[in-house]
Amino acid sequence: MWVKKVEFQFNQIQQTTGEKIPRLNHKSLIYFLVMETLEVPAKHKIPIELHTGFADPDLDLREANPLNLRFLLEDNRFKKAPIVLSHASYRYTREAGSLASVYANVYIDFGLAIPSLSTGGMLSVVQQLIELAPISKVMYSSDAHFIPDLYYLGAFRGRKVLGQVLDNAINNGDLIIK
Ligand SMILES: [Zn+2]
Repeated sequence: MWVKKVEFQFNQIQQTTGEKIPRLNHKSLIYFLVMETLEVPAKHKIPIELHTGFADPDLDLREANPLNLRFLLEDNRFKKAPIVLSHASYRYTREAGSLASVYANVYIDFGLAIPSLSTGGMLSVVQQLIELAPISKVMYSSDAHFIPDLYYLGAFRGRKVLGQVLDNAINNGDLIIK
């Protein structure tokens, strides 16, 4: 039944935009799809990535704070779904770290923050993430697409920044190497 409703809404968006594969930014449709499908990753323990923080121009950054996901994280149906918060949730990086420290199924990916931010910004973001989030729940993807340089810069800067932050953590005594 709900498939028909989604199809109807999707067709409406298609007609309105005139695009064969329109970008889905219809809030209620996205909400509905996420709520209807999140039990699948919960059942099969397949990670689901949710874009949070900065990204595309059509994004309202005021609504991109991952703390807005609390209703979903508190829902017993989805407690076993591994949820990956992407883009380091930048400008809400510390909030993302907090969520990863409290909810066992929350992870953070700092792709896009690297290589998009300044060197200081990249260092700060990774540093902020490991302030509170368990280090084993912090991960990285380049989020590279279209432009080959992004793959190179992502890998190059990702390693460099991570190395520097981990070096500092060792020197500060936050990380101990046995
Ligand atoms: Zn992304």
